[in-house]
Amino acid sequence: MSNQGRSPTRPFPWRCVECGARAVEPSVFDHTATLKHDGKAHEFKVEGLEAPRCKECGEFILTDAAAEQITDAFRGHLSLLTPNQIRSRLKELGLRQTDLARATGIAAETVSRWLSGVQLQSRALDRFIRVYFEFDAVRDFLENPASSMDAPGRQNPLDEGNRPPASTSADARNVADRGSTWAFPRLAA
Ligand SMILES: [Zn+2]
Repeated sequence: MSNQGRSPTRPFPWRCVECGARAVEPSVFDHTATLKHDGKAHEFKVEGLEAPRCKECGEFILTDAAAEQITDAFRGHLSLLTPNQIRSRLKELGLRQTDLARATGIAAETVSRWLSGVQLQSRALDRFIRVYFEFDAVRDFLENPASSMDAPGRQNPLDEGNRPPASTSADARNVADRGSTWAFPRLAA
């Protein structure tokens, strides 16, 4: 298998920076990595890692493609949503990544880094966005968290008694349209 879209500039074998042998060649091998997530070190296996590797000492070069393969394996090890899974959920819901960022309060740059695969979400945020994707009520709630979090017993402006006159006359509409009389922007037409 060749490195996708990444042809080496110099012919193999390359000289190994670790042992000096001219023995670095494109290789496919299993690799055990240890990386931290949420402050805890995790050891996991990367099967079929593709990278230029020294046949003498085993040192390999961490190309961008290899780093991505390791990140993907780590994400799998942690059972976190993948960028593609996040993208397809957003698409199903007709949302953009900026909508996700705004509604959840997660920085847009952070969401962008998740989707480009360079950063793994914490487990807490992974669960949060799963819940966000799963439940309409959660997304509705997050659209207007301030009013949703008011104390119980709050008065809904649309409760009986607070409604604008149930008139369809032009006058009544004009009052409503002026916007100053009613605190909420949208009235039933
Ligand atoms: Zn070597």
